[in-house]
Amino acid sequence: MDPAGQLAYSDAYARSVEARVLAIDDSGEAPIVVLDRTVFYPGGGGQPSDRGQILRTSDGRTWTVRGARKSGGDIVHELERGGEGVPAVGDVVSADLDWSRRHLLMRTHTALHALCGVVWRDYEALVTGGNMEPGAGRMDFEFERMSGDLVDEIEEKVNTELRSARDVRVNVLPREQAFAIPDLIRTKVNLLPPGIEEIRTIEIVGLDLQADGGTHVANTREVGGIRVTGYESKGRINKRIRIELVEPS
Ligand SMILES: [Zn+2]
Repeated sequence: MDPAGQLAYSDAYARSVEARVLAIDDSGEAPIVVLDRTVFYPGGGGQPSDRGQILRTSDGRTWTVRGARKSGGDIVHELERGGEGVPAVGDVVSADLDWSRRHLLMRTHTALHALCGVVWRDYEALVTGGNMEPGAGRMDFEFERMSGDLVDEIEEKVNTELRSARDVRVNVLPREQAFAIPDLIRTKVNLLPPGIEEIRTIEIVGLDLQADGGTHVANTREVGGIRVTGYESKGRINKRIRIELVEPS
């Protein structure tokens, strides 16, 4: 699969694409399908992979895609086993996302970057990890002095930033150029394997810049707001903040 056919990285709003089946592996627990292009995100960076369906153009038959993942350089689709048969190599299909779930993940992912941006800008706390599901997520920080009062303040600041309608941009930079951006160091861009020559970044203009492979909304206004649903200590230094999305008003 040509990297240019991995549309999630260049156009997060592509929810469907016509594609051709390149390979099938029906030997395992779930049938695996490789297409020549796809809109499915394979998961990574705390963002779960997409779900959706594959529809065969010739007869309208559909298969549920229960997940996707990277395998070698390809994005492979895992089908739910049900009924009989799998698509055949050469079939022309439409690869369709469960868009409401994906869009919720995009809003959630951008919200978490806004949280990172605020916590870094105003408290200089490094992010050490994170995870999300549609509509909710958590981030871990090296944030010794975090407290309940501070968390309320952070929630308010993040919501102010989201309301500020900041554009969210995707850039792909040569490795050397990416390494020269001081902000990227906090997301441990220097841990990337030596073979990677280009670094994809997500910029919330004026707030946050991170090396990131995920899918994001184009403007923070689309996120709506956040509510902090909990925070906890994972040790003296390491703290976890949990958030959920609040619908745009
Ligand atoms: Zn991210």
